[in-house]
Amino acid sequence: MAAIEAVGLTKQYHGRRGPIRALDGLDLEVPEGGVFGFLGANGAGKTTTIRAAIGQLRLTKGAMRVLGATVPEKLPTVIDRIGALVEQPSFFPGFSGLRNLQLLARSRSIPLSRVDDALHTVGLADRADSRFSTYSLGMKQRLGVAAVLLKDPELLILDEPANGLDPQGILEMRTLLRELAGQGRTIFVSSHILSEIQQTCDRVAIVAHGRTITSGTVTALLQGAVSRFRVAVPGGESEHAAAAQVLSNAGFRGTTDDRGRLVVEVTTDRAHEVTRALSIASIYISELSPIERTLEDAFLELTHEDRPDIGDAS
Ligand code: ATP
Repeated sequence: MAAIEAVGLTKQYHGRRGPIRALDGLDLEVPEGGVFGFLGANGAGKTTTIRAAIGQLRLTKGAMRVLGATVPEKLPTVIDRIGALVEQPSFFPGFSGLRNLQLLARSRSIPLSRVDDALHTVGLADRADSRFSTYSLGMKQRLGVAAVLLKDPELLILDEPANGLDPQGILEMRTLLRELAGQGRTIFVSSHILSEIQQTCDRVAIVAHGRTITSGTVTALLQGAVSRFRVAVPGGESEHAAAAQVLSNAGFRGTTDDRGRLVVEVTTDRAHEVTRALSIASIYISELSPIERTLEDAFLELTHEDRPDIGDAS
């Protein structure tokens, strides 16, 4: 059984200037276990999908099951097994993290023993007695995750938990998500931070304009057809220009990186043709190295968005 299954999700709003399709036939299959990244630019439809999954909005069309239960009709039968963090819960700034969680646990009839566990899991045990207002943003976000963990859910749904965090906060959140998955939970996490997803998730779905444009393991998505190679030739500007011309005549697409080296797009099995074309023109390369493909490359290719920094590839 999949943790989340969605087919043809459609959500239409009536805006002042006509209908707005927040979701436009989105499909999704999130297997049980591991960290699943739900990736898309702002406005792609991530929050709308998450709100539908936890019964916070009604879909215009489509079918969705969470932990096997049809949403929204059967959601109450599984809701205790789902922890969702869509907006930062409102904590009392003057109370400690511990006190805040104790109040939450009491209001939801959750045993107080869960509070220590949750604080420990998110790495806040030693700051549990400090006031919430003294926490860094990263600690506040982790307290939010702790609140969700109180009921010991098997499925965690987190909407952009790394949003606004500094690199240290991102690293802590990443470690936490991996740890939670290591405990056998399924983590469904949305993000528009591609590098974050690449390092944290086992599988991803990429969404754009309310549709899933691809999904699969991160490894599979990174093995795309086109690779980029960095080519350096000895000499100065004129040798470089000559090499660029030879490569362009031979039909390669090329750009220049910030250190003046050529970057050519070619499949790995044809990389030798780069060296051959140049050597026929008596240009001998000093470097031909593959540029690691990132999830960002895959994302930009799939969403047909421009790569603003192609000249800066390094
Ligand atoms: P973000 O990262 O910015 O939150 P997102 O991928 O979560 O983006 P959604 O919040 O799901 O995107 O929004 C998808 C689209 O639906 C956007 O164009 C948004 O403006 C629109 N939208 C969302 N909620 C409403 C609403 N209540 N009324 C009208 N339009 C809405």
